[in-house]
Amino acid sequence: MSIIDENRRLEDIDREFIWHPFTQMKDWLEEKPIIISEGRDCFIKDIYGQWYLDGVSSLWVNIFGHRKKEIDDAIKEQLDKISHSTLLGLSNVPAIKLAEKIIQVVNSSIIHHPSSLTKVFYSDNGSTSVEVALKMAFQYWKHKGINEKNVFVSLKNAYHGDTIGAVSVGGVDIFHEAFGPLLFKTYKAPSPYCYRCDLGKIYPDCKTACLDKLEEIFREHSDEIAGFIIEPLIQAAGGMITSPPGYLAGARELCIKYDILMLADEVATGFGRTGKMFACEHENIIPDIMCLSKGITGGYMPLAITLATDEIYNAFLGEFKDLKTFFHGHSYTGNPLACAAALACLDIFEKENVLDGLKNKIVILKEWLNENLNLRNVGDVRNAGLMAGVELARDKNTKEPYDWKEKMGWRVAYHARENGVFIRPLGNVIVIMPPLSISEQNLRQLLTVIKDSIIEITERS
Ligand code: PMP
Repeated sequence: MSIIDENRRLEDIDREFIWHPFTQMKDWLEEKPIIISEGRDCFIKDIYGQWYLDGVSSLWVNIFGHRKKEIDDAIKEQLDKISHSTLLGLSNVPAIKLAEKIIQVVNSSIIHHPSSLTKVFYSDNGSTSVEVALKMAFQYWKHKGINEKNVFVSLKNAYHGDTIGAVSVGGVDIFHEAFGPLLFKTYKAPSPYCYRCDLGKIYPDCKTACLDKLEEIFREHSDEIAGFIIEPLIQAAGGMITSPPGYLAGARELCIKYDILMLADEVATGFGRTGKMFACEHENIIPDIMCLSKGITGGYMPLAITLATDEIYNAFLGEFKDLKTFFHGHSYTGNPLACAAALACLDIFEKENVLDGLKNKIVILKEWLNENLNLRNVGDVRNAGLMAGVELARDKNTKEPYDWKEKMGWRVAYHARENGVFIRPLGNVIVIMPPLSISEQNLRQLLTVIKDSIIEITERS
């Protein structure tokens, strides 16, 4: 069979058998799928040999590019020992070493608060790390004898994953509304979204009135609130919505004041994306529970960690008959290959001084964003480190958005794709989130193609 025939066969088989996530399959079936066969550095190659610069890090997971030698070698070395062994009733060497390392990294990064994160609970993706966090927080209060604390507070525009618990604390209507009848009760606080403020205020005159609203919920319902879950600094999948300075620290103070556990979902923001190792560092806070995944293995393997304090962990200690055990665990929990990849990844952060190397790239991105604010149909630009969003608007003056059915974001993304850049928008928001290792030259190339695509689609077509 010729290569062309084999490629066509792959396309047909994909259409016949694969149901793609977050994808309207009717559209997919009408398009020619891009099938990736290889990756190198920040580039991915399709089966026809076309290379794309990956502007979204393989859905926000890739940190050091593809085929990073140290991570490749760590996985190969672990493969020669054992690929998987359970953590239920056994332990394994890479999981132990990674637990020690991650606790050291977290606590050397975030030093302000007296409590610290000391316990590692493994799972295998971002959503499960959030499920674990919610169940842990819920059961913690039961073990403390406070049975009324059964409800969580989350933010509008929040996204914490796709399992039912994570969807319950989500707040992106377009993804979550359909599942309404299945979800548990939550209180929703306003999103700290200054460009489209729920409260109709303008920053900084508002004096972060969204925090006052959060406090109102806490004050009225603290007896029943188990925890408050937040994506620190930036609501990523909600549209790259950056919170105003002081919001995160303010929310932390309120949790302490009203005796509410703070759950920080750093699944997207962790591992350098915001310019610091963890987003919580920007406002010197330490949560009671922290969720990590995505970049933890450099984007190689599914792995997640939910970190907890001694205070939480100790509440679960008891006699066997007391049934204080945390009854939660997944088959691939603490997978040795994934933990070996994560250890290599943390090593690279140190050896290559990765966070220092980001500074100039963040400046380049920030300057580009500010320039783009002048474009006719760019309403807002925002970033936290190398996570950025460009919000398109039909009318810049009135902030009238494009109707989501027009798929403006997608049209820009398709144009970029034709020019060798892969990006994936969130509604009207163009998302830019390249691997941290992207060179300055490739970053400039990425931004040039995106800018040209925005102009071409919003101004010329
Ligand atoms: N939390 C946040 C903040 C996320 O951005 C995501 C995924 N985009 C998740 C949780 C869920 O992670 P996963 O897709 O690995 O389940």
